Amino acid sequence: MAIYNYLEDIITVKIQQILAKNESVCKCDKCLNDMLAYAINGLPVMPYVTSDGGIHREVQNLTNDALKIEVATRCVKAVDLVSKNPKHKNRQ
Ligand SMILES: [Zn+2]
Repeated sequence: MAIYNYLEDIITVKIQQILAKNESVCKCDKCLNDMLAYAINGLPVMPYVTSDGGIHREVQNLTNDALKIEVATRCVKAVDLVSKNPKHKNRQ
């Protein structure tokens, strides 16, 4: 799952950077998790089963630069979407 963790790391950092510039966006754990999940789920990550039955994920045909751009785009969308549709009614 190394690639998955790697993606999660760069997405987490990116989302924190976006949030730092957006005072009005809710930054509670619920919203953060939603943003992270949304950003990760949209990425072209392909799960595959290994010979010992484990499941790995691999990023499909993406160079590092293309991946960074894709991640940045996804993170902006994720923050935008979740901030407009928080799962909780009141600000936390
Ligand atoms: Zn929230």
